[in-house]
Amino acid sequence: MKLNELTIKEAQEGLRNKKFTSVELTKACLDRIKERNVELNAFITVCEETALKEAQNADEMLVEGKIFPLTGIPFAVKDAICTAGVRSTGAAKVLDNYIPPYDATVIKKIREQGGVLLGKNNCDAFGHGASNENSMYGPVKNPINLDKVAGGSSGGSAAAVADNMCIFAIAEDTGGSIRQPASFCGIVGMRPSYGRNSRFGIMPMASSFDTVGPMTKTVEDMAIVMQEIAGKDALDATTVPDLVPTYNDEMKKDLTGLRVGVPQEYFEAEGMDSEVRDVVEKQIKNLEKRGAEIIYLSMPLTKYAIAVYYVLVPSEVSSNFGRLDGIRYGMRADAKDLFDVYSKSRASGFPEEVKRRILIGTYALSSGYYEAYYKKAQQVRTLICRDFDRVFSDVDVLVTPTSPFAAFGLGEKSADPLQLYLADIFVSPAASAGIPAISVPAGETKSGLPIGLQIMGPKLSEGLIMSVANNIKK
Ligand code: GLN
Repeated sequence: MKLNELTIKEAQEGLRNKKFTSVELTKACLDRIKERNVELNAFITVCEETALKEAQNADEMLVEGKIFPLTGIPFAVKDAICTAGVRSTGAAKVLDNYIPPYDATVIKKIREQGGVLLGKNNCDAFGHGASNENSMYGPVKNPINLDKVAGGSSGGSAAAVADNMCIFAIAEDTGGSIRQPASFCGIVGMRPSYGRNSRFGIMPMASSFDTVGPMTKTVEDMAIVMQEIAGKDALDATTVPDLVPTYNDEMKKDLTGLRVGVPQEYFEAEGMDSEVRDVVEKQIKNLEKRGAEIIYLSMPLTKYAIAVYYVLVPSEVSSNFGRLDGIRYGMRADAKDLFDVYSKSRASGFPEEVKRRILIGTYALSSGYYEAYYKKAQQVRTLICRDFDRVFSDVDVLVTPTSPFAAFGLGEKSADPLQLYLADIFVSPAASAGIPAISVPAGETKSGLPIGLQIMGPKLSEGLIMSVANNIKK
């Protein structure tokens, strides 16, 4: 097995037992990136020189006995997350030359313990998309089938992990951007509860939905990374003070007596692929064999989740993106006066989808429409939250497909934004409710495309949903 193919757990053991060094491990990842990135386009920036220096440092730490869980482990970061001294574009030209002076808190925690930053992953610009075709740096291809999308918006991170260009990645999930690409590329991806991980240093998309989470090769690795990045952060007032449990212990709990809810609406969606349904249903039977009690139930508000999401998220986008004006950060277009600076920098610096969302959001918040759209959507969001509260008094977790279909063709849906919005049908409800949800590989289609299964749980139940995920075997 090549070093870049290792899991975090295996890499940790190899480094500690001096079977190889972090420099060797990092070189193996960098070689893989060189070999594959031209085709896959998973990285916008590769930090070859600094990564090797960081690996050397990590090797010294290991010799000196300063050993933390992620010391010497090479990882990649979605480009919509700030990394000190490393260009962070958000996959939009407006930030083409932006080099943040600080690390996002989650990245700082990893780098401080000697994690090795390999580079920045391509994504839909600022997280706006479900196929990674809205990047101004070109689409990402699915490593399993190059004619298919990698999913979005964290398609670059998913492809990088699935193709062994890195050992793990850190990405962002506002409304599915970790889980859906994880499902399309056949890896593990978790959106933690809102407030579990710090959002400081994440380029804000929709601040009341945004979360940061890991993308990994195994559930065990997910527990390792979550342990290191979760927790209260003085720089993010929305982080919760609750103690971070020992995820590795929680993840290993067995399923005896666990009440698993299966909401029927997640199996009846329009465009639902029968191969996906069959794989997920088979896995649910397996959970039953492992001691779980399966409870079929209904969540009738599921069908409103996308409408709610696509009113509230653009509204928050239209407010958050005011800062990207060609003056404070990044690129400034040639212009003759102030208004021209704004309009030209934005016109050339944002892709169509970002502009579309700013316009929709501005419209939904404008006087006269605010009550009809924004306020109404907030009310329905509350009802969706209550729907989850209601079912979580009867069941411990919910199991559903992550996406109604496996990875679709490049260009297949890109001409019709509504089609892409509809792809979020199973991932947007958890985002509205701020609850944790994990996607884990559950099987594949006859043509070999990965199928992901989603497990959702009540707030702060990351350990519990990981324990269920750990019981899903392909
Ligand atoms: N598909 C969702 C969207 O386009 C995903 C966003 C995200 O999670 N960053 O809004």
